[in-house]
Amino acid sequence: MARILDTCAALERFEWLRDGVDHGLDRGLPAEVEVVHAVIVGPEPMSGLRGEVLDATEPVFATHGRVIDAACGRHVRVLLPEPFDSTHSKACGRCLDAIGLKG
Ligand SMILES: [Zn+2]
Repeated sequence: MARILDTCAALERFEWLRDGVDHGLDRGLPAEVEVVHAVIVGPEPMSGLRGEVLDATEPVFATHGRVIDAACGRHVRVLLPEPFDSTHSKACGRCLDAIGLKG
């Protein structure tokens, strides 16, 4: 079991990407992912961004300086609409510990 129930994958930062059409700046995923963290999103219904990501099909970005605590305690700003994958090559070792899996 690589994909962990009641979690989502999360990144510490997003990047501002220039839109090719209107030249505005949009939030996007960083070209290079350093670490993939786990954010606990259940089992009870969650509010705020954690609730949003459960129904999301695209990444959810924390805006206005908001941050979310990953399982390891790091602040993350991007929630991915997929469960945390404990076998991902960039999976955070401290998140694995925090959710009871050894890295
Ligand atoms: Zn972590």
